[in-house]
Amino acid sequence: IIEGKNLKKNFKNLEVLKDINFSINKGDFTVIIGKNGSGKSTLLKIAIGLLLPDEGSIKVLNRDVKKEWKKLAKEIGVVLTNERSLYWKLTAYENLDIFGGIYGVKKKIKKERIEFLLNKFNLYQFKDTPVENFSTGMRKKLMLCKALIHEPKILFLDEILNGLDPEATYEMIEYLNELNSDGLTIFMISHILHGFSKNTNIYLLKEGVFRLKTKFGNIKEENDNIYEYFKDIVKS
Ligand code: ATP
Ligand code: MG
Repeated sequence: IIEGKNLKKNFKNLEVLKDINFSINKGDFTVIIGKNGSGKSTLLKIAIGLLLPDEGSIKVLNRDVKKEWKKLAKEIGVVLTNERSLYWKLTAYENLDIFGGIYGVKKKIKKERIEFLLNKFNLYQFKDTPVENFSTGMRKKLMLCKALIHEPKILFLDEILNGLDPEATYEMIEYLNELNSDGLTIFMISHILHGFSKNTNIYLLKEGVFRLKTKFGNIKEENDNIYEYFKDIVKS
């Protein structure tokens, strides 16, 4: 469902992605980890057509992202790190209404969909509150609602867990696990590595290549402290 081959990306003479190869199947839950500046967001932006790779190919839902990014935009859900991707002065409801329109959600089902999502994330009571009055965690949840408004086939998330308190983090991961068990493919970047189900794939991005691909469950068996485990690999 997502396939990257020999992807390269430089910024001037900074080699960010050197040779990225990966293949993700429908229904997979994939978490990309790696140090700050290792190129995770760059890779995600290439996968959704927001950036072009210098070399290599990227296919999502069988579309060549470099050519068909426009069609793809209506089939995928995306949350980037920028909270300003919401309309600050407008209410939660108005935001979802506008984005629903952009993504082509039919008027008839839009209201129902918005109410369902706001309820799901405990934001319904704030539906008439302007986004500028939201906390970070509430904005993250609303950004996820926005990404789900058109019932996308794949969800791309860049550090959606940042800024959430422990309870909200747990709730968000639980909800993502639930969406994934309902069949949604999830590709996310995270520095937080607990709460994922054992089938979750973890890819470590280091020095421009994927250094490790494994399942969350495998790591737990070998070593209870996932952070320690990765520290060794990152050093090597
Ligand atoms: P973080 O965990 O901090 O979000 P990241 O792994 O997402 O890091 P990227 O944002 O992909 O890292 O950035 C990778 C490298 O590329 C960094 O050194 C960054 O400074 C550089 N970079 C990213 N975007 C650009 C750009 N538009 N122009 C120049 N350099 C860039
Ligand atoms: Mg990033």
